[in-house]
Amino acid sequence: MIATHLVVPADITVSWSDIAGLDDVIQELRESVVLPVRHRELFNQSKLWQAPKGVLLHGPPGCGKTLIAKATAKEAGMRFINLDVAILTDKWYGESQKLASAVFSLAIKIQPCIIFIDEIDSFLRSRNSNDHEATAMMKTQFMMLWDGLSTNSNSTVIVMGATNRPKDLDKAIIRRMPAQFHIGLPTEVQRLQILKLILETECVHNDVDFNRLAKLTNGFSGSDLREMCRNASVYRMRLFMRTNENELNVQASQPSTSFGLRCYRIKK
Ligand code: ATP
Repeated sequence: MIATHLVVPADITVSWSDIAGLDDVIQELRESVVLPVRHRELFNQSKLWQAPKGVLLHGPPGCGKTLIAKATAKEAGMRFINLDVAILTDKWYGESQKLASAVFSLAIKIQPCIIFIDEIDSFLRSRNSNDHEATAMMKTQFMMLWDGLSTNSNSTVIVMGATNRPKDLDKAIIRRMPAQFHIGLPTEVQRLQILKLILETECVHNDVDFNRLAKLTNGFSGSDLREMCRNASVYRMRLFMRTNENELNVQASQPSTSFGLRCYRIKK
């Protein structure tokens, strides 16, 4: 059911403060999406201004595209429909068109709303002569529904797509997403910021060298860094339990140096 993918802002658990190292992207999205949605009357005073109807986030897996999309919805007070591409592509002939139509109608009804499509390339890739007739019709209809958003200047519905392969996207789709952001693998400085954020609430010993961790994790995505920290944290607890089982309750809150030691050894 489509409704199972709908989230209201109050239920979105992430906001800008959960994203590290992407200040430039956040600033752009704040200016192009969040402020216009929050202050619609002001922006509507200009006949030249047009609300963006499409935003593309592209870059390698695990670098925060979904996180950014959700946080944007939260900050703008928008509803969030996470449109599962498989729902549209797996349905019988005619059914997917009805579903697409239902998604856009729902989005308009509950606006302001973001329709988020992860791996948008798998659904709206370049059209070619090998396309099944139903697939080609589906794409055309999807674009018509999307264009309908532009003709309705009152609608605050944005299609936000994420992809690891922007080059595979249909040119017509790219045109509909003038706001595009590359979310690449984090640099050393960004990794340092992500590590500090992830470990902000953890019990980390003073001798853990964050700068060194950031240096040693070249090539890690934000998701890899999170997984590394999770593994180190679990290891610390396991080690603690093995050696201190009897005193578990007494010392559970004590930090352990093993966090830092283990982080260096995790292989990518
Ligand atoms: P995919 O292409 O595989 O869908 P993605 O780019 O959408 O990946 P997310 O799902 O947004 O990546 O990120 C996965 C997890 O990695 C996040 O939930 C978060 O815990 C962590 N993460 C990634 N990037 C960042 C970041 N910049 N700041 C904080 N956490 C991050």
